[in-house]
Amino acid sequence: MPYLQLKGVEKFFGALRAIKGVDLSIDKGEFVVFVGPSGCGKSTLLRMIAGLTEIDGGSVELDGRDITKLPSSKRDLAMVFQSYALYPHMSVADNMSFALRLANVDKAVINEKVQRAAEILNLTQYLQRTPKELSGGQRQRVAIGRAIVRAPKVFLFDEPLSNLDAALRGQTRVEIAKLHRDLGATTIYVTHDQVEAMTLADRVVVLRDGAIEQVGSPLTLYDQPANQFVAQFIGTPQMNVVDTAKLPALRDVVGAANAPDGFIGVRPENVIVKPAGTGKLAGHVELVESLGADTLIYAKVGGNGPASGVQLIARQAERTALRPGDPVGLDIAPASFHLFDRQGHTVAARAQ
Ligand code: ATP
Repeated sequence: MPYLQLKGVEKFFGALRAIKGVDLSIDKGEFVVFVGPSGCGKSTLLRMIAGLTEIDGGSVELDGRDITKLPSSKRDLAMVFQSYALYPHMSVADNMSFALRLANVDKAVINEKVQRAAEILNLTQYLQRTPKELSGGQRQRVAIGRAIVRAPKVFLFDEPLSNLDAALRGQTRVEIAKLHRDLGATTIYVTHDQVEAMTLADRVVVLRDGAIEQVGSPLTLYDQPANQFVAQFIGTPQMNVVDTAKLPALRDVVGAANAPDGFIGVRPENVIVKPAGTGKLAGHVELVESLGADTLIYAKVGGNGPASGVQLIARQAERTALRPGDPVGLDIAPASFHLFDRQGHTVAARAQ
């Protein structure tokens, strides 16, 4: 039986149907990430689960109990916000223990829980400081600690790393993953960052316009996207998606000569750059991005002027001496393509 179950969940803001009948089952201990572009409804859906935004249709069940109409405080969930939302005048220890003190929990028990959470989060030496005496990353850890001491049934994170710089984001992401491994707590995590989604999630829920596009493990979404939207949302740089009408030769090149009219998708790591005059496609280099471990080569194939032709991005581990304007040959790795119909639906899984 699922631990958390959403059935036909709906949200309207005036005339806007912001959440369109979402069905989702989450198992106990799972780490589920909601991801999608700005405005797709991730935060709204999370807030509906948290009880911070009213549910207009459908139901939410947690651990066998219908919580659709329950106030947030009775749902046994803890939410960690992007803005930390700490009490500025309270010490770290008091911030972390606030909910337990409100609930009149025994002092010794509170103390033990706060100490334990502080140890897990490396905050022991900061317990007497106030939030303004902490860095952004430490404040976010206090907010996480406040959730941990409550031992909720589900942890809800709303873009918790957005206010941190890139290095700290990466570091805190690793800490959150470790925390989940240690605590095994059911977690729902909202982000617009697909790298966070891919690295943290047991399962990723890709949302668009208030509806679920696909739910699956990170690599399932990467290897078997249900449609063009998911295919291009997951993976950096984006999957190359080419209109077969613009480059008919590509059908033969990938080995899908009989594919229906539509689009062919190829991930950048499957586009192979070769010396000019070799390879099945001929093109020229438009841009080279040397990232150190990776090199991205943007090549234009077909067409005569700058406005025509098709751009393919190739990603390779080897460095290159190629420069913009250089002619190149291109191949596509065998069995690495995706086919989409004119509506963007996957019409055949990636050929094996
Ligand atoms: P972001 O990544 O930008 O935070 P999101 O995916 O979390 O986006 P939501 O904040 O859930 O998106 O918003 C979903 C839609 O609902 C958007 O079109 C938004 O403008 C709208 N919306 C959200 N909250 C309200 C509100 N209180 N009143 C009216 N419209 C709202």
